[in-house]
Amino acid sequence: MVSYKELGLVNTREMFAKAVKGGYAIPAFNFNTMEQMQAIVQAAVETKSPVIMQVSKGARKYANPTILRYMAQGAVEYAKELGCEKPEIVLHLDHGDSFETCKSCIDSGFSSVMIDGSSLPYEENIAVTKKVVEYAHQFDVTVEAELGVLAGVEDEVSAAESHYTKPEEVIDFSTRTGCDSLAISIGTSHGAYKFKPEQCTRDPETGLLIPPPLAFDVLEAVEKKLPGFPIVLHGSSSVPQEYVKIINTHGGKLPDAVGIPEEQLRKAAKSAVCKINIDSDSRLAMTAAIRLHFAEHPEHFDPRQYLTPAREEMKKLYIHKIVNVLGSDGKLG
Ligand SMILES: [Zn+2]
Repeated sequence: MVSYKELGLVNTREMFAKAVKGGYAIPAFNFNTMEQMQAIVQAAVETKSPVIMQVSKGARKYANPTILRYMAQGAVEYAKELGCEKPEIVLHLDHGDSFETCKSCIDSGFSSVMIDGSSLPYEENIAVTKKVVEYAHQFDVTVEAELGVLAGVEDEVSAAESHYTKPEEVIDFSTRTGCDSLAISIGTSHGAYKFKPEQCTRDPETGLLIPPPLAFDVLEAVEKKLPGFPIVLHGSSSVPQEYVKIINTHGGKLPDAVGIPEEQLRKAAKSAVCKINIDSDSRLAMTAAIRLHFAEHPEHFDPRQYLTPAREEMKKLYIHKIVNVLGSDGKLG
C-alpha cells in the first residue's frame, strides 16, 4: 500500500472548490509516455497551473501500472526541479471499470479515481460508485462518477450513441453515492471523430465540418440542481484542423476528424465545470510533429530526433489549453 501523499501528489477536493468559485477548469491530460509526461509538467510549471495527469486502463496496459506510478512520482520531483516549489499534481484513473481496478490504483498511489458505471442500470451505477467512494475516502482519495453516456471510442470505452445526463437524477445520485465530482454528458464525445458528418453542417468555403453545439441547457439544469458541485467534461478535444491538415498532407488519413470548438469549452470552464479532459489533441500534436519531421528529415532514425519536436508541440498545445481555454494559469497555491 502506497499513499499518494508520500509521493507528493494531491487529491482534487481543494483544487475543484477553487476552480468552481474562480470560474476556471483544471486541465486533465492523459499520458502514456515519458514525452507526454514531460510536456505536461513543463506546461503546468511554466503557466503556474494545477494539473491532473490521468491514466486510462489502456495506458496502464500499454505502459505498465508500476511504471506509470513512478512516472507520476517523477513528475512531482521534475516539477520541483523546474522551479515549482509546491506543485499541485493529481494522479487520476480515467474510466475505472470496476471496484477492483479503482482499489488497485488507490492502493498503488493514485490520488483520485473515476468509477465509470455510466453504462450500467442506474441502481447498479449507484451501488458500484458508492462502494468505490467508501473505500477511497478512507485514504482521502477523491472519486469522479459518471451519469449519462458519451458517444465515441476511448481505449476500451466505446458507445455508439450518447445519452444526455438527466438533470432530475443528479441530486439523488450524488447524495446516495457521496462522489466528489460528476462527469456529465452534454454532447462531448471521445476520440478524434466526435461527430458524424451528417450531424454537422459543412463550411461552404473551407469544406470543414461545423459540429452541433453542446447542450448548455442540460449543464445549466444540472448546476441549478447541484449548486457549486464539481462537474467534469470528458471527450473535450477540439481536434485542431492545423494538425489534421499536417497529418493528412504528410501521408496520414484522418478524413473529417472533428472536435469541440474551443469557445464552447471556454464557456463551460467558466461554469461549474471544473475539470476538462483532453487526450486526442495531444495525440494529434504528437503525430503531426512526427509526420512533419520525417517528411523534412527522411534520413533520421534516432527517436530523440523526432520525439523532441513532438514533445515541444505537445507542450505548446498544453500551454494553449491552460491559458486560452481553461483559464487555470496562475492558479497554483
Ligand atoms: Zn472519458
